[in-house]
Amino acid sequence: MEIAIIAHDGKKAEMVQFLNEHKAQLLQKKVSLISTGTTGKKVKKAGFEVDRLLSGPLGGDAQIAARVAEGKCQMVLFFRDPLAKHPHEPDVLMLMRLCDVHDVPLATNPATAELLIKAI
Ligand code: PGA
Repeated sequence: MEIAIIAHDGKKAEMVQFLNEHKAQLLQKKVSLISTGTTGKKVKKAGFEVDRLLSGPLGGDAQIAARVAEGKCQMVLFFRDPLAKHPHEPDVLMLMRLCDVHDVPLATNPATAELLIKAI
């Protein structure tokens, strides 16, 4: 199962913490992680294997959206920062829209991500 992880700058620490808390489950279910560039860098540093795509503002969200549309990515954990502005907002909306189009589970905060991870 492929899971995409993305975290806006204000949420990257929470993403690393979330993954650490669910490491056993991710390994047990043989999850392969893909991520946007900078999120992936932090997650890799924390000891996870992750396939890094472009940084979000440079097209990383769009790359993940494409994988969702192609049926290659089965879940998206996207910790958004609702208190910050993002130059790539159109890409963010596209990714969320395509998750809805293709009925792919999408968590935009740790509480929802927790429920999704428990369900896999
Ligand atoms: P980043 O992108 O992981 O490269 O910071 C995340 C985003 O802002 O969409």
